[in-house]
Amino acid sequence: MWAAETGETCYNIFMSKMDEIVSLCKRRGFIFPGSDIYGGMAGTWDFGPLGVLLKNNLRDIWWNYWVDKRDDMFGVDAAIIMNPITWEASGHTATFADPLIECNDCHSRFRADKLVDGYSESITTEEFKAINPKCPNCGKANWGTIRKFNMMFATHVGAVLPEDENGSEEDKALARRSIAYLRPETAQGIFTNYKNVVDTIYPSVPFGLCQFGKSFRNEISPRDYILRDRECSQFEIEYFVKPETWETEFEKIRQEYISFLTDKLGLDKAKLNELEVPEEDRAFYSKRTIDVMYSYPNGEEELMGIAYRTDYDLSNVAKASGKNMEYRDKNTGETFVPHVIEPSMGLERAILAILSKAYTEDEINGEKRVLLKLPEALAPYKFCVSPLLKNKPELVEKAKFVYNKLKEKYTFVTWDDSGNIGKRYRKQDEIGTPKCVVIDFDTLEDDTVTVRDRDTAEQVRVKIEEL
Ligand SMILES: [Zn+2]
Repeated sequence: MWAAETGETCYNIFMSKMDEIVSLCKRRGFIFPGSDIYGGMAGTWDFGPLGVLLKNNLRDIWWNYWVDKRDDMFGVDAAIIMNPITWEASGHTATFADPLIECNDCHSRFRADKLVDGYSESITTEEFKAINPKCPNCGKANWGTIRKFNMMFATHVGAVLPEDENGSEEDKALARRSIAYLRPETAQGIFTNYKNVVDTIYPSVPFGLCQFGKSFRNEISPRDYILRDRECSQFEIEYFVKPETWETEFEKIRQEYISFLTDKLGLDKAKLNELEVPEEDRAFYSKRTIDVMYSYPNGEEELMGIAYRTDYDLSNVAKASGKNMEYRDKNTGETFVPHVIEPSMGLERAILAILSKAYTEDEINGEKRVLLKLPEALAPYKFCVSPLLKNKPELVEKAKFVYNKLKEKYTFVTWDDSGNIGKRYRKQDEIGTPKCVVIDFDTLEDDTVTVRDRDTAEQVRVKIEEL
């Protein structure tokens, strides 16, 4: 099974535009399969030098929009390993599970609902066997029964030796007590800090707590490139409101988030599809949930979700901790447990939406080219500086001067003196650099440079001090 589980095989399932994006991401150093050199590690992906820049830009734009520019939002950054009571209280220990089915012939394991059309995670063995699909691995149709597979990654905290799990009853108990989980969502790190925040900075309701960080899900079958991986980064906001205002606050957040996706990330409104999740598919405590879907090149998939979670989470924390989660209104003295609106977006899903939007093929002077039309704020580099010829020391020296000057001002500036100028343009187009600045012999005479635009390929002369 190991070879079939490597990241490399995940490439096969995509249509051509997706193939092109995956290939560009690897070729140009955006995204590599995790542990690539050892044949991969299913459901993990690594960001390379360009990917890190894109990811950091996205994180900064998000943080700036939702936290820095607002008076009602604050950040938290909780530990990834939390007290296991957290997951008892939130229900993850009992219900964060997928339906697992095993082939009796080849013993491959699959998510049952993904082998048949039109079923959710709640599919039963009877429903599955009524359809009796073929095993994707061996082609037989001889199945076991569906078991619930908890998707949390368990680990041991403290000095537990592997033999403890096989030792005396006392050793086994010690091993059991030491079990902790890598967090399956960032949200609980916010709910468990709600009281700390209110007790320290006492923000006025409505207020939001924002967190960006890793979460982990032991997906039975990771797939669809970076869309369904075992380790991902989440942007989460828990927005605490007065219970009776939830509908207006939900609507405000919804509109603000759609503006964020279109205005700040440059996504097409036409490719966003807001799905009102019907009551029977919502979590029992939620009165409204919207899944914001995005049309990726290989089909529509969830990009983010906005859920009204009532006081479900804070009440669970109150019950499990024995602490009071009531908020006291600063003006009226009235006390209540705030209700919560939760917009949640996966970083990898957003990155893939951004790349699919940006990926463009066109022709310049009859020659095909590939470019990433990234919004400037997201582009890994804002400028590329190069000397027209790298074997002319006076050009190189002048170009270095311009490069250092720009780097002081913009930080994200790259240098390129490889190959000929045409090849450099192609490369910068592919990584989405909006402007290429070229130093030539005229520069030495009049201190002007050529600035070439990524999208139009047009070139203009600009004074160095006007850059
Ligand atoms: Zn099989």
